[in-house]
Amino acid sequence: MRGSAKIQQGRRLKTWSAAQLIPQHPTLSKLREAARHCRACPLWKRGIQTVFGAGAASAKVVFVGEQPGFDEDVAGKPFVGPAGKLLDKALVQAGIAREEVYVTNVVKHFKWESKGQQHIHKKPNAKEIDACLPWLEAELQVLQPEVLVCLGATAAQALLGKDFRVSRQRGEWVPLPLAPHVTATVHPSSILRAPDDETRHAEMARFVADLRRIAEVIHHMEDRQNH
Ligand code: SF4
Repeated sequence: MRGSAKIQQGRRLKTWSAAQLIPQHPTLSKLREAARHCRACPLWKRGIQTVFGAGAASAKVVFVGEQPGFDEDVAGKPFVGPAGKLLDKALVQAGIAREEVYVTNVVKHFKWESKGQQHIHKKPNAKEIDACLPWLEAELQVLQPEVLVCLGATAAQALLGKDFRVSRQRGEWVPLPLAPHVTATVHPSSILRAPDDETRHAEMARFVADLRRIAEVIHHMEDRQNH
C-alpha cells in the first residue's frame, strides 16, 4: 500500500526507533498526541517540544524538510520561521494553495549546539533520522498524498536513497511507492543563505519553477476529478 511503504527498509538501524509508539489505526491527531511523548532518541532532551507535521488531512502535497529550527521549536509548528515564510511565498508564486499542503520533517525535534547565547542548527545523524522515520511513515500512510516533495539533502537522502543528489537531481520524478509523484528540491533555508541578492533571486526563481511543476500535477489531477 502506498504511503505505508517502509522508507529505506533494510537500512534502518535497530538501536532507536519510534515504531513501537505508532498508535493503531492512526489519524493525524492521534499521531501528533503520541509524538508529543516520544523519547525514542536522545533529541527529546534538546528541543522544547516535538514539532509534528501540520496541514490538512486532505492535503495533496506533502513537503518534508530536515528538522525544526529554533522558531519552530518555540512555536511547536513546522516551517514558521524565515525558511517557512519563504516557502509560503514560493507556494503563492507557484499557484499552490496553502490548504493543499502538509509540511513536516524527517526529524521532529530541534537538534542544536550552543554558540554564545544562540542555538545553532546541527544536522541530525543517521541513528536519529532512522529513529524518527516511523512518524513520517505514519503521516504518509494517513495522508496518502498525490505528491511527496523532499526539501534538501537530508530529507532526500532519507527518503530517496543515500546516493540521491539534490544538486544534480532536483525536480526529477522518482518512481517510489511513497506517493504517485515523488521528487526533491532544495530546502528554502539554502536560498536564505545565498551569498548575495542576485544569487538569492536566481535560486528563488528556480525553486518556484520546481514548485510550478508540482502545481501542474495537482491541477491536472483536479481536472481529472472534475470530469
Ligand atoms: S527526534 Fe523523533 S525519534 Fe527522536 S525523540 Fe524526537 S520525535 Fe522521538
